[in-house]
Order: sequence, then C-alpha cells, then structure tokens
Amino acid sequence: MPESYPIAEDELLQCLQRFHSEYFPLHQQRFQDLVAQGQRPKTLFIGCSDSRLVPYLLTGTGPGELFMVRNVGAFVPPYDGSHGHHGTAAAIEFAVLSLEVSRIIVCGHSHCGAIKALYGEVPTEAQNLHRWLDLGRGAALPVQPCPEALRRTEQRAVVLQLERLMDYPMVRQRVTDGRISLHGWHYVIEEGEVHVFDVQERGFVAASRAQCSGTGPYPPYVEHDGQVLLD
Ligand SMILES: [Zn+2]
Repeated sequence: MPESYPIAEDELLQCLQRFHSEYFPLHQQRFQDLVAQGQRPKTLFIGCSDSRLVPYLLTGTGPGELFMVRNVGAFVPPYDGSHGHHGTAAAIEFAVLSLEVSRIIVCGHSHCGAIKALYGEVPTEAQNLHRWLDLGRGAALPVQPCPEALRRTEQRAVVLQLERLMDYPMVRQRVTDGRISLHGWHYVIEEGEVHVFDVQERGFVAASRAQCSGTGPYPPYVEHDGQVLLD
C-alpha cells in the first residue's frame, strides 16, 4: 500500500464497519440460523457480472436464498468432459448435486458488454475473455449491431445457455423428471423489468404480463426468422 493511501477516505472500510455495526445486528438471528442449519437455497442464479444487475433486488431475496454464480455474459460452459478449472460448471454441479436446488435461473440483461463484444474487438491482451466469448457466439446475428439486434442477441444468448445447461446430465435428468425448473430471464435495466422466456410463446414476455417465470423442459428455440439455435 503506498504511504499516501487515503485512509480517511477508505470508503470500502467504512462500508465494512457499517455492515457490522448497523446491518448485522438487525439480521443477526438469520445469519446465525444459516450457520447452525447450513444453507438451503432453492435457486441457482447464473447471472452476468454487470454491476447494474442486482439479483437480490430483482427477486426480493436475502441471505441464504440464492446460490449465485456470475460471469461475463451469464454464460454456461459446455459439458464436454474436459473437467477443467471451470468455476461455473463446478457451481452448477454443486448446486444441483449437493444443494439440490429446484430452480435454475440464467439472467442476461440489456446493454450487456459481453454481447456487444461479440460484434467487436476485445483487447489483444484479453485472451481468456476472447475465448470465453465463444460461449455466446452462437447467439450472434449476421447483421450490424443496432440496438434491436443487440437485444435479440442478449435474449438468444440466454436461451443458448439454457440449452447448454440441458447437456449437463444431472440437470437434464432433474428437469425431465420435474425436480428442477429452468428460467431464462432478460433484465431490461432502463425499464426495471425482467422479460422471461416463455416456453409456450417461444419468446420473451415482460414479467408484468407473463403467466409464469419460465420452466423447462422445452423444445428447441425457434427465432421468428425460422432459425433454430443449436439444432
Ligand atoms: Zn452483461
């Protein structure tokens, strides 16, 4: 730490102190119960890392309720037998096999930098990022990245990840026998609304008009131009 580090303006430290002195006393019992009984979240939330996506606000949840994994783009790596150092795949296995979650949400969002990057360049130094974005390329459209195309790509990317989730044997088995439901969400930041993937409609429906928050299994996603993802 440089000598000139502004201790007095250490906002992070102030946040930590405020959490301990103000928030924790109000919720102490809840935290202690979660320690004594262990966590039993019913939901695995796979979301983009974007700072504007706040899963606890969207779902009205708190400590112990969401098992969360976030990454650039809310992508799901393929279940390809490579057994690599992959955090998202490990989190899916843990949530399904150990925590026995009953819901898996994949949540993308508007103005997603990862989706935009599918149409542009990433810094040459960002080799891992470049490779990671491969997981969204199947959702990209052969058009110029106008706002409409970006939104469609964001939504297509969510469905692509749901389809890849179904390649995880432990997920497929439980979705098929009804123990796990799948939920594809697209959060539109500026509207304060989540659009949910509706299996019957084969498209995204604003939550305010939707009949359900999404469920699986579902047939292959067919775009209105007739293109089938991952066919
Ligand atoms: Zn994003």
